[in-house]
Amino acid sequence: TVITRFAPSPTGFLHIGGARTALFNWLFSRHHGGKALLRIEDTDRKRSTQEAIDAILDGLQWLGLEYDEEPVFQSERGSRHVEVAEKLLEAGYAYKCFATPEELEEMRAAQRAAKEPMRYDGRWRHRDASEAPLGAPFVVRLKTPEEGETTIEDQVQGKVTVRNAELDDYIILRADGTPTYMLAAVVDDRDMGVTHVIRGDDHLNNAFRQLPIYHAMDKIEGDWAQPVYAHIPLIHGADGAKLSKRHGALGVDSYRDDMGILSEALFNYLLRLGWGHGDREEISREEAIALFDIDGVGKSPSRFDLKKLENLNGHYIREADDHRLAQLVAPRIGPEADVALLAQAMPVLKTRAKNLDELAEGAEFLFKKRPLEMTEKAAGLLDDDARQRLSVIGERLRGENDWTIEALEATTKSIAEELELGLGKLAQPMRAALTGTTTSPGIFDVLVLLGREEALARIEAQAA
Ligand code: GLU
Repeated sequence: TVITRFAPSPTGFLHIGGARTALFNWLFSRHHGGKALLRIEDTDRKRSTQEAIDAILDGLQWLGLEYDEEPVFQSERGSRHVEVAEKLLEAGYAYKCFATPEELEEMRAAQRAAKEPMRYDGRWRHRDASEAPLGAPFVVRLKTPEEGETTIEDQVQGKVTVRNAELDDYIILRADGTPTYMLAAVVDDRDMGVTHVIRGDDHLNNAFRQLPIYHAMDKIEGDWAQPVYAHIPLIHGADGAKLSKRHGALGVDSYRDDMGILSEALFNYLLRLGWGHGDREEISREEAIALFDIDGVGKSPSRFDLKKLENLNGHYIREADDHRLAQLVAPRIGPEADVALLAQAMPVLKTRAKNLDELAEGAEFLFKKRPLEMTEKAAGLLDDDARQRLSVIGERLRGENDWTIEALEATTKSIAEELELGLGKLAQPMRAALTGTTTSPGIFDVLVLLGREEALARIEAQAA
């Protein structure tokens, strides 16, 4: 069976790139009827925070990415990581390095001067620990192969080959005895039974360095099969540079809370950020599970496009259930917002909105108290002439028994004809009086949503 994992480091928010990696892993496992696992890589105790962990869990849940087991916390597996390091050490696949920081700095300076690549030169690879001063601090380094080359059949990048001479003997246990990411990730992936490692292509180099651990442990105890790798291209901003905050790249919670994006919109947007199925635009969760596979993931970086996300969000808002939208929008208006009325107004409000704030803005007039606060523009519209017209309109509408869009429209049109004015000459002051603004849904919708008494009261309040 297929087992994937998403392995975020909780050092910041769940950003858009991480969320996409999570989504691809989740979809891949679902598509193949496998398991999706979550591992919190919290070994960097100084930079990992509970807040970040919560934000990650919250964001994943909001996107609907549920996991098949409780999350694994890497920090709780330290003794297992050390155990593997000791096995490697014992079997001669790793060694203690007593090089002092000063010594290593000198080595690097020499490499810099010679314009050689900077990497550990293996100076303790063939020395014995007995050569070190008694009690001297040491790190444990992996003995990476020196000759030949390693090829990875990456599911996205294709065949990638690296000369083993380029791999340095990197640290697997620090001087304080704690495991490094390189070791911990491999041990956890293997123990969790991960079959497919799908992650950003900034980790491709790490794959070449991590493979020797699998190979060594497989020789030592067997049953350490290497996973299938799929390194997905990073997301870039519209300017082609690696995505950052500057491009409007935020945490998933900001898209939800600050920008008012619906989870299905972000789900769909992330899905098509680097993966495609023909020119299909809106793809449901079920369809995504049915269609998603790694061969649909492109090799070149995708570009993050906020406009596209917003347009997509507008589409999903129009599709969304009105009561659900009302519940999402109400807190954005305030305690005065009435969910039932909002739901009733939704079909009219949602035709143009691209996010929940725009919906809230469009709905605010419903809950305003008399006398209405006027925008400057709205106040400017209400000159003496306009107020005269409002008093005619108020009188006529008061006699209107059928408070429906059709009837109100017919009556207002007949008033316009009698006064020999365009409909706009009536609608503009009506809008100002009814909403306190100059933009709103259709004026007859507004009349109906406000209800007869409130609507008439607002018109009469501004009439001459
Ligand atoms: N914790 C790593 C990161 O957040 C992921 C490592 C991996 O996927 O192997 O970049």
